[in-house]
Amino acid sequence: MLRKLLPDERRDSVYQLDLEALWARGARGIIFDFDNTLGPWGFAQLDEQALRWLKTVQTRGFRVGFLSNHRGEGREGLLASLDGHPVVFNAGKPRPSGYRSLLEKLDLPLRQVIMVGDQIFTDIWGAKRLGLYTVLVRPVAPEREGPFVRVRRLLERLLLRW
Ligand SMILES: [Mg+2]
Repeated sequence: MLRKLLPDERRDSVYQLDLEALWARGARGIIFDFDNTLGPWGFAQLDEQALRWLKTVQTRGFRVGFLSNHRGEGREGLLASLDGHPVVFNAGKPRPSGYRSLLEKLDLPLRQVIMVGDQIFTDIWGAKRLGLYTVLVRPVAPEREGPFVRVRRLLERLLLRW
């Protein structure tokens, strides 16, 4: 059961993803979490580096999608900057329904899609339940997180040490 919580890979940030290796293992789509994965929690706009990186990922041939538990309010600017890549807000991670609806929009089979996120108990667990390959990244700005997330972070650290 605990194995289902462990990511397949860990990276310091999304910019450290090895796109060649992921492509070689059959990945054709990448799902990104938003908050603390591509910017600090609740960010209203992707910064230049993130936008450039997403372009790179797309240019290498990957389909790109976004899966967020955030409700999406106040993020119209963010949506507009995403070039029509599919987004699911209110995803309810780790429940499978959000992943399923995004996978449908990406139009790729499970085994060709990887999930990249900063939280084990939402991003990683939900993805592994469905059988997706997973990459855990370090949170962009952990100091801005609330008390519930801090407790989860503690559990995450214990689990990763184990
Ligand atoms: Mg996150």
